[in-house]
Amino acid sequence: MCLKNKEKIKKIAVLTSGGDSPGMNPAIRAIVRTAIYNKIEVLGIKNGYDGLINDWTIPLTSRSVGGIINKGGTMLFSARSEDFQKPAGRQAALKTLKKYNVSGLIVIGGDGTYRGAHALHNETGFSVIGVPGTIDNDIAGTDYTIGFYTAVDTAMQAIDKIRDTAVSHNRLFLVEVMGRHAGFIALASAIAGGAEDALIPETKTDIKELCKRLHEGKKRGKISSIIVVAEGDEEGNAIEIAKKIEKKGGYETRVSVIGYQQRGGSPSALDRILGTRLGNAAVEELLKGTQSAMVGIQQNKVVTHPLEMAWKEKKSINKTLVSLIGIMSV
Ligand code: ATP
Repeated sequence: MCLKNKEKIKKIAVLTSGGDSPGMNPAIRAIVRTAIYNKIEVLGIKNGYDGLINDWTIPLTSRSVGGIINKGGTMLFSARSEDFQKPAGRQAALKTLKKYNVSGLIVIGGDGTYRGAHALHNETGFSVIGVPGTIDNDIAGTDYTIGFYTAVDTAMQAIDKIRDTAVSHNRLFLVEVMGRHAGFIALASAIAGGAEDALIPETKTDIKELCKRLHEGKKRGKISSIIVVAEGDEEGNAIEIAKKIEKKGGYETRVSVIGYQQRGGSPSALDRILGTRLGNAAVEELLKGTQSAMVGIQQNKVVTHPLEMAWKEKKSINKTLVSLIGIMSV
């Protein structure tokens, strides 16, 4: 840590933006306590960038973040702000930051949140650090985003329950999980839930081939099957794919859409630890004098990258995990 900058920073601000994710609260707690440990005050901004524009603020103390490590959602609330996408909105945001003598802003959210922070920094020179908080895990520069593994646990538990019915009634179930543009949740929950396949936007979905494999599985004595579908698969959502399977393969199918429960719930141990490590790292970056960056975790080490990495680089799916599903469904 560079102590020379430590003297300069008296106050920082934190906000959560975009979709909420379990683990945002542990990250807020870590930011507040790391700052206070370093004798820095913290201003909480409510409702994401809208709160910054409209001066919806709350001073955060060590005590105000007590008892939140196990809570899902975000104590600062989250929002998607249209106004912040315009330069006038960002100027209003700067006014609020100046009013409270804040010298660094930490944003917890997804790539859209990073774009906003990047725009603010580019236009005003204000120091910004991004912390990856989204269940989708679709941010390059970090192996995991905060909330991902809790969402995977939730999806896995739902798959476990659906399996009971699938087995009892010899049925083919399609379970739809979140992931409009990315299949990380689908892939991980399919492996953890022992599904036959994960249909994801990153790989080509071949319905004919899928029906063939289901048929072969039946011949080998499989009495039920579960297929996990990412909502953004190129063949459609789970309901649309189920219809195609019924038409092409003659199977009777059942569909279960897990939905918003994947975003909620108490954060898993992994997400609490990740939120704590990345929240701490974000404050450390401001103390070092970093003016614009994102923090992430790679190979179990905290790393930093330019914010632009989140939208300039596409995070690729782990191909080994894709093949693993095939091997496990033999
Ligand atoms: P999630 O992955 O959960 O969707 P996200 O951070 O990507 O999270 P977005 O709704 O895309 O969610 O972005 C959050 C907010 O960031 C937007 O509502 C907007 O205020 C701001 N934002 C997004 N893109 C830009 C941009 N290009 N310029 C300025 N602000 C932006």
